[in-house]
Amino acid sequence: MTILSSNPATEVELARFDPHTAADVDAALDAAVAAQRRWRFRAITERVALLRAVARVLREGRSRYAQLITSEMGKPITEAEAEIEKCAATCEHYAEHAPEYLADRPVRTETGEAAVLHDPLGVVLAVMPWNYPFWQFFRFAAPALAAGNGAILKHANNVPQCALAIEEVLQQAGILEGLCRTLLVEVPAVAELIADDRIAAVTLTGSTEAGAIVAGQAGSALKKQVLELGGSDPFLVLADADIPTAATTAAKARFINVGQSCVNAKRFLVEEAVADEFVTAFADAVAALKVGDPADRRTAIGPMARANLRGALHNQVQRSVEAGATLLTGGEPLQGSGFFYPPTILDHVAPGMAAFDEETFGPLAAITRVTDAEEAVTLANRTEFGLGAAVWSSDLDRARRIAREIDAGAVFINGMVASEARLPFGGIKKSGYGRELGADGIREFVNVKTLRTG
Ligand code: NAP
Repeated sequence: MTILSSNPATEVELARFDPHTAADVDAALDAAVAAQRRWRFRAITERVALLRAVARVLREGRSRYAQLITSEMGKPITEAEAEIEKCAATCEHYAEHAPEYLADRPVRTETGEAAVLHDPLGVVLAVMPWNYPFWQFFRFAAPALAAGNGAILKHANNVPQCALAIEEVLQQAGILEGLCRTLLVEVPAVAELIADDRIAAVTLTGSTEAGAIVAGQAGSALKKQVLELGGSDPFLVLADADIPTAATTAAKARFINVGQSCVNAKRFLVEEAVADEFVTAFADAVAALKVGDPADRRTAIGPMARANLRGALHNQVQRSVEAGATLLTGGEPLQGSGFFYPPTILDHVAPGMAAFDEETFGPLAAITRVTDAEEAVTLANRTEFGLGAAVWSSDLDRARRIAREIDAGAVFINGMVASEARLPFGGIKKSGYGRELGADGIREFVNVKTLRTG
């Protein structure tokens, strides 16, 4: 078995790697456990100094790391650069705030003093996806390392060069030898890692299907897990919304990262009274997105990351059209090399169609016309997912009321859903459980320990 890196824009092979052997894995786990036992007792000031160094290394290497992302998974280069910057900023956020997030919390009792401590759990296995190959890892690792944990990374197998570059970043930043390792292994090795006593907990960002399998394995081993899974985020456009701004934001919210983000807006629920105006403005904004070479700074839409992902998306488009959706633009894979798929808009999408019921992970927007806000909320919640949602209305009080009725881990009013270091991020229902980022994120992989005197 070989792990291949290839360019989705050209289909040219870039590199190939032999997977790590069982002996390599064993040695990495031993080293990680030994390093974590030392790391956990380092002062928090020393632990966060590592994060500052990581931020520096990321920024110094930004151009090279961004090029690696673009060449391995096809993200437009300007977005890849922004991804590296976001990783650096998040490391700095935890460098600044981890001491406060992890501080002992004193509690007064009748008989004496008590405190709540935040000890690390140990070595955490991180199973990560290719879509934000640096960000997904660092948003987990920055708080986990600050809290005193170690990490083993099993990255998606189409981004092995990014996976190895992440290890290099940490080494250049001066991480304790062995504390964080990348293992190039296939999926079957994940079950063995989870069962291994040297792994204390698991985090997986990926599909709901993989999440359910890993949840079962971690559950039977009684190991803490955080699952960041799929989404089918609704984007509600109410009749009193600022339609031009909603439409241009909608184009970004759907097509950033070539539509391959868990929190892309995927289902647009638009009140009938403004639907024609919204659809026209949205289609204009989408038509302006330049499709092409992701290494070209003017490109907004590069290739999809893999042939099978493009095939699956096209199948969803075809099934939705057969079920009665109206194809407004796009809808056919582009000819030539590379896994290009044009920005595609389906109008008159309804429950029961693939574009409504399933997660669509690529450049496909589904528009559903609704009679009123009440129907918009009902349809927003008619999904097995619950990651993010956006509500557009000029009446903020009403929008806040509606936000509370939506079953999701985050609702953004008059904006697009995006993660940021200060705020918790995660889902409910089949979008997973647990939180990353913010104070909540750093407390996922800690032992909340009670210490009572007297
Ligand atoms: P995926 O196929 O589930 O892969 C994600 C990771 O899980 C990869 O490292 C993959 O390894 C591994 N994996 C796959 N099957 C596994 C199994 N049975 N046991 C253990 N590990 C397994 O997902 P993807 O296609 O790469 O990513 C797209 C999905 O991720 C979408 O559903 C998206 O919504 C979701 N996602 C969610 C978030 C979030 O924060 N909620 C963020 C980004 C993406 P291999 O590469 O070797 O198969």
